[in-house]
Amino acid sequence: MATVVTTLTCLIGGGCVSAEEPDQVGTWVALYNESGEELCPATASYIDSYLEQVFLLFGEVPPRGVFVRYYWVDHSYTGFARASGGGTRIEAGSPAYEHELVHAFQQNAWPQSPAFLREGLAELAGNSIILQDAGSYRPTGEQLDEALSGPPESVDYAVAWLVVSQLILEHGVSGLRDFWFELGPSSSMAEVRQTYTRLFGGSLDELVQPFPVTIGGEQVPFDRGVCRVEFCTGEPLAWESERIRGMGVSGCDDVDAVSPSLSQGPQFPWKDYVVEGVEPVVAEAAPGVYVEVEQCGVLLCDHYTVRDEGLAQPPPETWEQQGRYRVRVATDSDELAPGTEPTFELIPGA
Ligand SMILES: [Zn+2]
Repeated sequence: MATVVTTLTCLIGGGCVSAEEPDQVGTWVALYNESGEELCPATASYIDSYLEQVFLLFGEVPPRGVFVRYYWVDHSYTGFARASGGGTRIEAGSPAYEHELVHAFQQNAWPQSPAFLREGLAELAGNSIILQDAGSYRPTGEQLDEALSGPPESVDYAVAWLVVSQLILEHGVSGLRDFWFELGPSSSMAEVRQTYTRLFGGSLDELVQPFPVTIGGEQVPFDRGVCRVEFCTGEPLAWESERIRGMGVSGCDDVDAVSPSLSQGPQFPWKDYVVEGVEPVVAEAAPGVYVEVEQCGVLLCDHYTVRDEGLAQPPPETWEQQGRYRVRVATDSDELAPGTEPTFELIPGA
């Protein structure tokens, strides 16, 4: 069980303030465990890798030293990130909540912008769980304005996510950046719409509407969907005669283990690998070892293949990373028989 260590700092002229010691310190994050759950050793280093990937994607360099103070609090709580003391303070119910890490990037590298851009980007780059529920609500006109207006509490996250992912798909990361830098936190929807048209031509409504595709010689409207970003970090695993034998973590005390997320993502201590070449599939895993394979990529959209067949190509910077896969291995140590190693085996997919 992790404990919170509290020290007292006494100021000259009286008064002592309590200053907690972080449970883990990485390159950019100080991690405080106030969850009552066990903190696995590689959690801060996963947060560091994630932050590094986000800064890299948007062409920025992280500040020097620790700029994120991350408090893992009671798991019933989802989280927030706010600018504090020249950095970002995050409180979240998960030990490495990617959505809030994206806000930390925004607060430390980019200017303030309308809430719908901040939340849309955090959903897109934050491996959000609402992907499955993002639905197919594609409002235009006043309904679109309403979905994107106001502070975070009144923004429709799924619509904001759709807008941000289509912005990057159509205009690239640089297009999103240009749009973001032209707007401020209190820009009205009229200003947002004018700025969009001035920068890119066309309208914000068109950006969320289905586009025509040719299927079997006929033009049909194809619905736009939200896209995902899958960042791939972790040790490389190499193929050996059409096979990969790998080792997961044995439990939370394993030096490579990242704490499970209690609200999303792996439910048991886990680690990531990267596999190159053909897509791997799981051939075998020890009891209690769960292996998940994901395509790595900056924008993974369900209408990719359709666009691939003869329509306007999205900018290459937003394309998926062909032939790169993330293998995430989680272990339920209660299921792993004593003395058994958390092994798994991959073979090439069809
Ligand atoms: Zn948010």
